[in-house]
Amino acid sequence: MRVLPFSSVSTSPDINILLGIANLEAVPLDGELREPFVIASDSSKQTAVDNVLVRLTSVDGYVGLGEASPFPGISGDSQALLLKDIKRFRKRIIGRSLTLFDLENQTRQAMKFSASRAALEMAFFDILAKRAGIPLGRLLSRQTFSELPITDITIPIVTPEKARVLAQKYLELGLYRIKIKVGKDVEESVARVKAIVEVYGTKRIDDHYLEILIDANEGYSAEGAIELLKRLSDEGIYPKIFEQPVQRKNLTGLRQVKLKANQQNTRVFADESVYTKMDAAHIIDGDAADGINLKLMKHGGILEAIRIAEMARRYGLQLMIGGMVETTLAMTASLHLAKALGGLEWFDLDTPLLLHQRLLTGGMGYVGAQLILPQNPGIGVSAI
Ligand SMILES: [Mg+2]
Repeated sequence: MRVLPFSSVSTSPDINILLGIANLEAVPLDGELREPFVIASDSSKQTAVDNVLVRLTSVDGYVGLGEASPFPGISGDSQALLLKDIKRFRKRIIGRSLTLFDLENQTRQAMKFSASRAALEMAFFDILAKRAGIPLGRLLSRQTFSELPITDITIPIVTPEKARVLAQKYLELGLYRIKIKVGKDVEESVARVKAIVEVYGTKRIDDHYLEILIDANEGYSAEGAIELLKRLSDEGIYPKIFEQPVQRKNLTGLRQVKLKANQQNTRVFADESVYTKMDAAHIIDGDAADGINLKLMKHGGILEAIRIAEMARRYGLQLMIGGMVETTLAMTASLHLAKALGGLEWFDLDTPLLLHQRLLTGGMGYVGAQLILPQNPGIGVSAI
């Protein structure tokens, strides 16, 4: 097992400092998506990015950036609610001095949404790493890992014809790990997965055949999810991962799907089921999943994500790092976290590829499926 960074975070002299806060601003961070993003739990099509950019200024002149990304169908928030949540918090910290851990306590008391807490903490971390003159990942852990993270790319709920077009595009881009959104209708889901499998056929990218992950975003009953696995196996299709097949509170159902899926070497991952450390403990106690999808927006930031990651590791669960529909800012912060944790099995940091235009400068890069982490101090992203 890797040595994990929470103790290094909580004792680091570069992290445990009092920061005087001079200003906090929150503005809309809007952009268009190349394709509407449709998943099982959200009845509306998401066609745009309606995020929030947070700009935190310290009294010694550093500016830290953070991003909050709402997902109304999953988290019950929205851009307007997040803006309100953050703006209400302004009075509480401007003119004050506080540590990262004070900030976490205060945002937990005063903010309603985990995504707004994540944005504030991200901006605070950005300042700490800039002050230390090192990239965020290095601030979180001084260990160096040589692994090359490979991201998946998501194909949302679309027709088989559209899925074929997208798969062809991703094949040409050198992406071989595809996360396919499924849910509700088994036959329709099977048709979409089949269409993608047909495009890749036996083609290989860097010695890899197509790898399939499916994500139902709570869209099935346990029976429906097991039926989907059976129908796919009838077609000779065995997903590596089945993410959140059932409703988030249905841990009995999740475990039923896991037992069945494990017989064919498919791992079941909890996503919407795990917002907090307590949620992760329930998954572990109930032996309900093989892994957890970490997301800064769900956990309310990097500190809680690290705590959840450490707990999951201790009990042998795998980890995925993912996000909502985020720009390079939150995704790069997540990649820094993943680098600090080391040895993550799955990377789902693809949403900047789904955006029509770049909304910020700098940040992570993509070479085919490989993720490149910026080496400049802080998160490495600037506003345009
Ligand atoms: Mg998911």
